[in-house]
Amino acid sequence: MFTSEQALAWVKATAGVVQQHAQELTRLDAAIGDGDHGTNMARGFRNVLERLEGLSKPDMGSLFKAVSMALIGKVGGASGPLYGSLYLAMGRELGDATEVEDHRLAVALRAGYDAVVARGKAQLEDKTMLDAWHPALEALDARLADGKELGEALDAAEAAARDGVAATIPMIARKGRASYLGERSRDHQDPGATSSHLIVKALADVVNGMPKAKE
Ligand code: ADP
Ligand code: MG
Repeated sequence: MFTSEQALAWVKATAGVVQQHAQELTRLDAAIGDGDHGTNMARGFRNVLERLEGLSKPDMGSLFKAVSMALIGKVGGASGPLYGSLYLAMGRELGDATEVEDHRLAVALRAGYDAVVARGKAQLEDKTMLDAWHPALEALDARLADGKELGEALDAAEAAARDGVAATIPMIARKGRASYLGERSRDHQDPGATSSHLIVKALADVVNGMPKAKE
């Protein structure tokens, strides 16, 4: 089971790791973009935390919609609308649920991913956030299909996202600002894939660190 309490803890944990890694994200973006990804994400998630203060015990749909609105309003750049779409589609999928089966969380994440694809029109290996999300969701689905616990499945997703980030290093960017560099985008880690890994890791950590929801 995945609960709205865990969803809220995930969002707050994400805000924390984004602040912690803001400099790294900015440094990565400075190499192949315009050096704003860390500051964009930190500003966006600060706004997320402010918005959440006004929501008491939100259902998952309301929670993720609020996250989406905060990110669309404050992140800017390419990643703001993309992450906004991700959370909006997740919220739509989960609706007013306050507790869902593990596979519905996976379905919601997949809906979020599909929304990013629909908006950004990138393909795998274009050196974008998709290169972290796609292997993560494949690993999550495979573990859940094998009957694994959500925490274990999310740990596998986190490891796959981490590998996906490393795999962006030799890629040549074909979407976003980094694509303007062509060949010169090679040998650099993609900032958006890196922040996506942080989001997946925060989810795995929250699910593994919190007491199990009642069966
Ligand atoms: P900008 O490039 O506008 O400054 P950011 O620096 O915040 O925006 O985000 C850059 C990241 O956005 C890239 O590292 C990449 O992962 C992601 N990105 C850019 N374009 C796309 C796209 N079309 N689809 C998916 N992800 C994308
Ligand atoms: Mg940028």
